[in-house]
Amino acid sequence: MLYAYRVLRCARISFWIKWCGALLAILLIVAWLATWQWRVWWRFQRGYELGLCEGLFMVSYASKPQASPSLFWIERNADSFGTFFWRFSQGKSQDWTSNRIPIWVLLVPTLGMTACVWRLDAKARRRESIGHCPKCNYNRMDLAVDEVCPECGSQPPPAPTMPA
Ligand SMILES: [Zn+2]
Repeated sequence: MLYAYRVLRCARISFWIKWCGALLAILLIVAWLATWQWRVWWRFQRGYELGLCEGLFMVSYASKPQASPSLFWIERNADSFGTFFWRFSQGKSQDWTSNRIPIWVLLVPTLGMTACVWRLDAKARRRESIGHCPKCNYNRMDLAVDEVCPECGSQPPPAPTMPA
């Protein structure tokens, strides 16, 4: 918790975690919903395939090296419309092995971590805005601006810069 706090006080890092986390979560949700109707495939040289379909990430590889060119395609999944898979599984055919990774497995930790960072950050900002130590909530009203917190020893929050 302490460490998380220190990282968060570095405003730039917390800014990136907050917004990258939110963006990644949104992308995952969009991808997940899109797989309700669509399939997306990337085929790479040497027989690797990445796919998005039916609530899953598919990571497939050919058992024999393939000479197929790189490809990207999107298609309606008319035959399995509205099917969502929730569990890990592995599919094997003669030529291909596919590992199916449910999208929620990536989405849940992303959402959880992002929500946590937003909350901690909002809490520290709230404390700072009422003149309290952002770390331990000690009332800094009677302290000099540059004095360390007598309660937890943390550095004072940066003084708001006056507009020139
Ligand atoms: Zn403090």
